[in-house]
Amino acid sequence: MADKFDFIREDVAAMQEAGLFIHLRTIDSAPGAWMTVDGKKVLNLCTNNYLGLADHPRLVQAAHEALDRFGVGPTAVRSIAGTLSLHEELERKVAEFKGVEDALYVQSGLCANQAAIPPLVGREDVVFSDRLNHASIIDGCRLSRAKIIVYEHCDAADLEAKVKEHLADYHRGIVISDGVFSMDGDVAPLDEIYAVAERHGLMTMVDDAHGEGVLGRGGRGIVDHFGLHGKFDVEVGTFSKAFGVIGGVIAGKKVVVDYLRQKARPFLFSNAVTAADSAASLAAVEVLSESTELVDRLWENARYFKDEMKGLGFDTGQSVTPITPVMLGEAKVAQEFSRRLFDEDIFAMAIGFPTVARGKARIRVMISAMLSREDLDYGLEKFGAVGKELGVI
Ligand code: PMP
Repeated sequence: MADKFDFIREDVAAMQEAGLFIHLRTIDSAPGAWMTVDGKKVLNLCTNNYLGLADHPRLVQAAHEALDRFGVGPTAVRSIAGTLSLHEELERKVAEFKGVEDALYVQSGLCANQAAIPPLVGREDVVFSDRLNHASIIDGCRLSRAKIIVYEHCDAADLEAKVKEHLADYHRGIVISDGVFSMDGDVAPLDEIYAVAERHGLMTMVDDAHGEGVLGRGGRGIVDHFGLHGKFDVEVGTFSKAFGVIGGVIAGKKVVVDYLRQKARPFLFSNAVTAADSAASLAAVEVLSESTELVDRLWENARYFKDEMKGLGFDTGQSVTPITPVMLGEAKVAQEFSRRLFDEDIFAMAIGFPTVARGKARIRVMISAMLSREDLDYGLEKFGAVGKELGVI
């Protein structure tokens, strides 16, 4: 007899058949260079711990101290009774680090996109959005109910053509792009996007989730990388990747950030980030403000690993950042590749549809400053062996 959940069973069976069913691996340690996953020690080539800050002694110490002082949870949304002195201190520090007028601290990068977009555009307005923008940008745009017009990936000429064709039909417009595209590691042409926005009076927003702690001077992010300080109205970021913790930030013009404090729904309707997380994020910003050492090591490791992977014959796509996609095509091949690597003590997950387009499945290697040359060589040796075994290289 038909059951009301047959649709789920059918969908799950189809996902399994296509190699798209997600299997969770269980972590039992900090995400260091070597970590414990499903009960064994493996080389970490796939977390976003770009700088090794996730278990950095200064961040851990700051979290401990904040726990002792503030307890475990703020127990209120920020606009009612949840704004801690730590939240405000973090906002000041991160604004200074990124060279912006103001910043608003929210629960995650995903929340930051949902917080930032709906107050700026509504039903009568239009968003120009890069074809490969992150899902949380797309969801933020959908929540706003503005018309979404997609322009071709990283194509400022197509953006301008679309703006010319459509902007007049709407009240206000904004252009939104990822800074670094998280699945390919390529970088948006932010200078060209800004020039188009200027010519047509558009608001500008960039999601710098994978640029902070990576691009720019000492990891100050994509706006710093392009020297566009003060030009982008909104810079979304996250403390969950290079900063090693959790939480999101909306940085940019004071007029905008102050407005979001009044209007952004994740800020108004969901609890504040814990003191421990806030203190650890604050310590991360301090570590980065004091030295470029970790960021320099990250880039040195990334250059070495990518050059060697190309030398082995792997297709690493268009990446110009430490994100290293190893293009494998079919999702089943990528899953098998990841399983075989795991047998060889390498943790590198396969990524398939819907995170990337069908037929563009890959292993995404995330390079980190915490990896030694020995670690990188071990990873390269195993990638080479599995690649040959599966006929990929
Ligand atoms: N934007 C981009 C571009 C991302 O890659 C991510 C993380 N996957 C997010 C936003 C969401 O950040 P968070 O994990 O802090 O919610």
